[in-house]
Amino acid sequence: MRITIPCPDVQSYIENPENFLPDRSVCLNDPSHSPQWNTSWSRGLCLDHVNITEIKLFNAYCEVCHETISYWPEFVLPYQQEPLETHEQVVVEHLQGISLRESAAKIGYDPRTVSRWIKLIMAQSLILIDEVVQRILSFMGQAILPVTVMAAREVLLLAWLRNYAEWIGFSRLDRLMGLCNLLGEGDWDLWGAPLGKAKSRVKKGIAPG
Ligand SMILES: [Zn+2]
Repeated sequence: MRITIPCPDVQSYIENPENFLPDRSVCLNDPSHSPQWNTSWSRGLCLDHVNITEIKLFNAYCEVCHETISYWPEFVLPYQQEPLETHEQVVVEHLQGISLRESAAKIGYDPRTVSRWIKLIMAQSLILIDEVVQRILSFMGQAILPVTVMAAREVLLLAWLRNYAEWIGFSRLDRLMGLCNLLGEGDWDLWGAPLGKAKSRVKKGIAPG
């Protein structure tokens, strides 16, 4: 299972990643389990689109469930070398009508790569939106749609997150996908990375009859 942890400051995380971990790891399957901190590992992150910076990540392991619990700082996505902000930037630019070629040129990537990111993120936003919106509404304690229902469905998830970010004072408005992953608390796989075997843990209501 993957859990996103809040990390407002990338540099502080790089210097002292342990400071961002929770005091103890909790097993999402059953809070009475006691997972132990297990391994740390490094991965490269391309913060300036050119040079690789090593980032340390941490795992815990639940012996009862035989499951690894991995902790992802909010700006890192599994399988992706670029920080989350880069992925979000190209999606926002795409929604603004900026061409793939122009978006890709800004960060020195092949437009086909940028196109692949955008397709993945858009497809996943349609899968995730209902769960995420329900959670936002449960936290906001109201069922008032904070965005215009006229917006295209592809834009809606970011629009909801933007409103929620403002409501809770989440200042990293270029990391709304990170906010979405934080909101999940491990209940859904991380938006923006290829979805792995991790299944949604959100309890589905049982259909009557
Ligand atoms: Zn467990």
